[in-house]
Amino acid sequence: MKVRFLNLSIQDQEEKQSILAAVERVLDHGIMIHGPEVEMFEKKFAEYVGRKYAVAVNSGTDSLIFALKALGICHGDEIITTSLSWIATANAIAICGAIPVFADICDDLNIDVTSVERLISNKTKAIMPVHFAGRVCEMKAIQELAKKHNLLVIEDASQAVGAKYYNQLSGSLGDIGCFSLNPMKVFGACGEAGVLVTDSEEIKEKLEILRYNGTINKETCIEVSINGRIDTLQAAILLERFNYFEKFIQKRRDIMKKYNEHLSSLVKVPLEKDYEMLSCYNYTIQTPFRNSLKEYLEKNGIEIKIQHPILMPNQPAYEAWTKSDKKNATKIVQEIMCLPASEKLLDEEQEYIIDLIKKFFKDSKCL
Ligand SMILES: *Cc1c(COP(=O)(O)O)cnc(C)c1O
Repeated sequence: MKVRFLNLSIQDQEEKQSILAAVERVLDHGIMIHGPEVEMFEKKFAEYVGRKYAVAVNSGTDSLIFALKALGICHGDEIITTSLSWIATANAIAICGAIPVFADICDDLNIDVTSVERLISNKTKAIMPVHFAGRVCEMKAIQELAKKHNLLVIEDASQAVGAKYYNQLSGSLGDIGCFSLNPMKVFGACGEAGVLVTDSEEIKEKLEILRYNGTINKETCIEVSINGRIDTLQAAILLERFNYFEKFIQKRRDIMKKYNEHLSSLVKVPLEKDYEMLSCYNYTIQTPFRNSLKEYLEKNGIEIKIQHPILMPNQPAYEAWTKSDKKNATKIVQEIMCLPASEKLLDEEQEYIIDLIKKFFKDSKCL
């Protein structure tokens, strides 16, 4: 048996037809950028997350850049983020001229708030927690720390659409919430897309200026920026996919629970606390036997991914110039791997993977 990590083709015929009809509507009205579907999507997304405003943009990376710029982050400011994330998080900070400062992580793969506190300096302006793999960070502690030191909080919720923390959705817990809606994410467009959410009208207006070359009235440039507008097609597709992604999260959660049940005695699995609900962007296990287990599963036809194999502070572009605290992260990054766990995974595929992992540990007698 061969099991792919992720299959992005749209197989549900009803979903596919609804997307095709949406594409046709956009082709007919012909407003290819910022057509009426964009505002409709923004309204629906803001309502869903429980915030006043949403501003759609053309990628998650741009959403982070615009969030920082809208909050006035500039040259020399320090932004504390996690060591373990997709590099877009750090790049967004650095592109704004600010300095990413990399905090350590806890065993749950999210930012360690005690490490954040150690790294605060008189240049620190904001904390950018990343809700890793669909688990919301310990936001109460982060909010408290931010309040104490007068810092802004920007959530990188790219991996956590639909994840909950004390019944609040990710993205509703900081000054601005940022999401990637690229096709790999649980709620994805059919191409690049992203969105920001906030309760501040002032921030929302700034974001709308920033996303179109810093202009007002489409002509007068009042701030240096880039073009980060979203295609109408992607907004129209996202509006259709709104009807499906919560079902996908449910399916992914069932897959997580089944893996947890069978694997928790063999490897460290993502357990859920009673106040949280994971959205299962990926299913990450941790084991000191990571490399040999990965090789064994791959030899048996299972596609495995490591998200993310290089800590952000260890990336060549960052190694030389930024501060970090990464003791636990350095150990953990050697031990993480993601099993296939998307909503398209079949029962028999999951059972095959579970059996292989059990067999690996039984045969290698390494426990
Ligand atoms: C995917 C991702 C991004 C970047 O989003 P794009 O839409 O690919 O630009 C940023 N941060 C995290 C944590 C991500 O997983």
